[in-house]
Amino acid sequence: VRSNSAASRDIAYHLHPYTNARKNEDEGPVIIDRGEGVYVIDDQGNRYLEALAGLWCTGLGFSEERLVKAAVDQMAKLPYYHSFAQKTASPVVDLAEKIVEMTPAQLTKVFFANSGSEANDTAIKMVWYYNNALDRPEKKKIISRIKGYHGVTIAAASLTAMPYVQAGFDLPIKNIIHTGAPHYYRFAQEGESEEAFTDRLAQELEELIQSEGPDTVAAFIGEPLQGAGGVIVPPESYWPKIQAVLKKYDILLIADEVICGFGRTGQMFGSDTFGLKPDIMTLAKQLSSAYAPISAVLVSDPIYQAVADNSAKLGSFGHGYTYGAHPVAAAVALETLKIYEERKIVEQVQAVGPRLQDGLRRFEDSPIVGEVRGIGLIAAVELVADKASKAPFDPIGKVGAYFAASAQAKGVIFRNLGDTIAACPPMIITEAEIDILLDGFAAALAETEAWVAE
Ligand code: PLP
Repeated sequence: VRSNSAASRDIAYHLHPYTNARKNEDEGPVIIDRGEGVYVIDDQGNRYLEALAGLWCTGLGFSEERLVKAAVDQMAKLPYYHSFAQKTASPVVDLAEKIVEMTPAQLTKVFFANSGSEANDTAIKMVWYYNNALDRPEKKKIISRIKGYHGVTIAAASLTAMPYVQAGFDLPIKNIIHTGAPHYYRFAQEGESEEAFTDRLAQELEELIQSEGPDTVAAFIGEPLQGAGGVIVPPESYWPKIQAVLKKYDILLIADEVICGFGRTGQMFGSDTFGLKPDIMTLAKQLSSAYAPISAVLVSDPIYQAVADNSAKLGSFGHGYTYGAHPVAAAVALETLKIYEERKIVEQVQAVGPRLQDGLRRFEDSPIVGEVRGIGLIAAVELVADKASKAPFDPIGKVGAYFAASAQAKGVIFRNLGDTIAACPPMIITEAEIDILLDGFAAALAETEAWVAE
């Protein structure tokens, strides 16, 4: 690392999230300098196709001028205001109207926060407030799933049932419990059909609810398709069966659409693709194409009414962020949603998605590819040590990390979730750019196969 370069100053001063700091001290970071469509360019002039849209979020790529202009115009007009105490800024109202129009009909009001974690924390407080308002304060437990990713704040991290988020932090907190993930390839038993697998998951959920006491279980939170847990596409029969159980015990459904939202799965929401009818929906990431931090929590009318009616009894809903409903972020999000509509982003994903899905499935024959999965413009390839037994690689070998480094050296940035390689490119990607992504994948896979065979 050159002295006094940006990389060396980063080593001196910057503590990165989710990063091995000692490794960063040795090697220094890649400094990303600018963006161009689906590409980012580092300070040495190297171009990378961003095959994960940053962190599953820059739906419109890295250089959408209209979003820049929306931010600049709003910044000049009113750079900040809040929404406390019956005040708000005008782009926030426009955005609220637009989001309620776009989301499923049963969701009638929207609350704004700044990140996916905050949105999910907010959803939990909404559920608790709702049940308090209905005089059933004991109905508090929230069920999330193994492999679910819902954020890293204390409550959201409790929902995120991943050891790398919870270990060492005394998590999960009280009242947050977990059930199984609908990953047929990994979790189905020998000879079990998909139908029998989803029956078993629904039964496991019902048994959990019964053992906890149905009167103590308030809500179930799930990503329609689990993203960071490995791009787990649920079997078609999964959500209908899960929702039948929830309905039976009067348990709310929270759909975490932070990754799935706005076209990613080939429908406007993952809930449309997989048939969820949520009482609460959380949105972030592609809501603003990540050009500004903003998230949203949509609630159904019964939840809104309980929150509104009971303010005399409980006090007004005790929750709100200084930067929530930020006018600049709202203006950027509003412009983002307009662009999604004008450019028919859902149709675009449906048109180019098969190129990515079919292209990745061509690697199914590799001796180290266990499963290729995905839908729309989100996909993953799980690398395994033994195809027949599905045995994973020894994590010490860090095969996924090797693959990601190899692809990056070839100009394509993927994200490895352990040994699962995820792709979730900006939704504006063309078929020609998907071919470049696939070429990078093929080259990195060949290199990884050779490395593993050594
Ligand atoms: N929910 C889902 C489905 C996510 O994928 C993420 C982040 O990746 C979050 C919530 C947390 O969002 P944030 O990182 O903005 O707090």
